[in-house]
Amino acid sequence: MAAYEYETHEYDVVVVGAGGAGLRATLGMAEQGLRTACVTKVFPTRSHTVAAQGGIAASLGNMGADNWQWHMYDTVKGSDWLGDTDAMEYLAREAPKAVYELEHYGVPFSRTEDGRIYQRPFGGHTTEYGEGPPVQRTCAAADRTGHAILHTLYGQSLKQKANFFVEYFAIDLIMSEDGECQGVMCWKLDDGTLHLFSAKMTVLATGGYGRAYFSATSAHTCTGDGNGMVARAGLPLQDMEFVQFHPTGIYGAGCLITEGARGEGGYLTNSEGERFMERYAPTYKDLASRDVVSRCMTLEIREGRGVGKDGDHIHLNLSHLPGDVLAERLPGISESARIFAGVDVTKEPIPVLPTVHYNMGGIPTNYWGEVLAPTADDPDRVSPGLMAVGEAGCASVHGANRLGSNSLIDLVVFGRAAAIRAGEIVDPDTTGPTPNTRSVEMALARFDGLRHARGQVGTAELRLQMQKTMQQDAAVFRTEKTLNEGREKMDDIAAKLPDVSVTDNTLIWNSDLMETLELANLMPNAVATVTAAAARKESRGAHAHEDYPDRDDENWRKHSLVWFRGDEMKSDMGYRGVHVKPLTTHNEGGIDPKKIAPKARVY
Ligand SMILES: Cc1cc2nc3c(=O)[nH]c(=O)nc-3n(C[C@H](O)[C@H](O)[C@H](O)COP(=O)(O)OP(=O)(O)OC[C@H]3O[C@@H](n4cnc5c(N)ncnc54)[C@H](O)[C@@H]3O)c2cc1C
Repeated sequence: MAAYEYETHEYDVVVVGAGGAGLRATLGMAEQGLRTACVTKVFPTRSHTVAAQGGIAASLGNMGADNWQWHMYDTVKGSDWLGDTDAMEYLAREAPKAVYELEHYGVPFSRTEDGRIYQRPFGGHTTEYGEGPPVQRTCAAADRTGHAILHTLYGQSLKQKANFFVEYFAIDLIMSEDGECQGVMCWKLDDGTLHLFSAKMTVLATGGYGRAYFSATSAHTCTGDGNGMVARAGLPLQDMEFVQFHPTGIYGAGCLITEGARGEGGYLTNSEGERFMERYAPTYKDLASRDVVSRCMTLEIREGRGVGKDGDHIHLNLSHLPGDVLAERLPGISESARIFAGVDVTKEPIPVLPTVHYNMGGIPTNYWGEVLAPTADDPDRVSPGLMAVGEAGCASVHGANRLGSNSLIDLVVFGRAAAIRAGEIVDPDTTGPTPNTRSVEMALARFDGLRHARGQVGTAELRLQMQKTMQQDAAVFRTEKTLNEGREKMDDIAAKLPDVSVTDNTLIWNSDLMETLELANLMPNAVATVTAAAARKESRGAHAHEDYPDRDDENWRKHSLVWFRGDEMKSDMGYRGVHVKPLTTHNEGGIDPKKIAPKARVY
């Protein structure tokens, strides 16, 4: 192996990722007086959060009655009773505070006539514990909410003098021999130098892994790098079988049409022009939760009522909406529909199809963002020096299915919580860890190995094999047969990783090497997804198993865990219990436990 020199940077905290979660954590850490570095492979405001359209959920009650208990109930039900109850309570309670903070930081929310933050209806968000009409809970800046939040948080982080390291690619975590995280090794993309960030606390905010699939709404940068690093560090990934398909990706292109489009009154139709959601979800119709709507669309197509010449998609109708609603509330998606589907939304329906959108699973954490390294004796054991927030993390508030607009709020609530916690446990006056030489050498050796990989299969080809397999065998509907086939195929594909070929071995702007590092990260995500899915013999949330169509709380109300053996693609499975106790008791003003007891999930 070539000898690599690297520069060492010492900080109290290093945050990997500058999306909504990473920036909120960075800002909070800096506000706590901690010396904070934020490393990111893309410029902060190009993170996938920028693409979030519809909005951010919080029970402000600006457009009608609402409260955090209703929000919590909807989140519990949305999760299909797999979310951790303490974390879901924390999310719903802290949400209004986190949104008002964003407002005060300067997020340009849309406004009501009397100047309050505008809120729109979103799928699965209801009143009266699911007994009342849909609620307007999703705070929006037109249909560019993520864009508004990301730019504001970046500006505020700069104001707090956080240190940004832009276009630095994090390769691997540096772990002590007894399992404490000591920082992260990074490759600076524009000049090829290597940088060791040594820190008392490392925060992974690296986003989701949508790109393990062929058709996804997420950016090409969503490659689950943090999850990959954690897997290689011998820590588990949790609930990876739960992959959310968004009902309305543009047919062919995969770009998202926000659920806000249905929130503003849009509806789906089949080839007979029927508003079929009325049949499946009589109460909430097109605003039932995402897994439900995606399955209904798939059923309509399967039963021969799809639209288009191949009968393989569905129509989303907006043309009945007033022109000013389209122009003011949905300008971005009107533009996307024109560019990517050639459709004028004021006149024609948009062709749509369920498309991979969000990963409920990820790195297990408690509701402070601290990463868990569960053991048989202690399922909630904290892994020292490491946190995970945002889509990379699994707190778990989304359980088996995330409600729309509950991710943006998860980013800021848990980004903020991680900073509060770090303020308590990181002492700026102590000296930082001495990085473990063996771990540093392993990171460099892996990097060097991929840089000089001269195998038989190209990165793009292997990635395509993975994406097609995941798309086909770990889809909206799953069976014993597809899952077992998928698992075998993914094992074979993952086994080819050591045989990958990188043609460019320079170190400056080497996109070939970067994509190979990303593929090496996607691979454990894909393997964990199909492995955990094949093991789960029930249907819950986004995991719709045709051979086991019912939810089975007795045997399966538990989080699945997948561990990898170092850099190998061999995995082991285990489980940990769901936290069923809320943070506060009913007497202390908490939710009535009877309200959130498991029951059938109908919309
Ligand atoms: C099209 C679209 C629309 C959406 N709309 C909504 C919505 O309206 N409401 C809602 O609640 N949710 C929405 N979601 C979901 C939500 O936007 C995402 O879950 C969320 O933005 C993820 O944020 P994040 O901060 O975790 O990660 P991201 O925003 O994906 O950021 C990841 C960061 O990690 C960095 N990174 C990754 N790997 C590395 C590495 N190896 N080295 C260095 N840096 C690295 C990247 O540079 C980036 O800065 C939407 C998602 C999509 C795809």
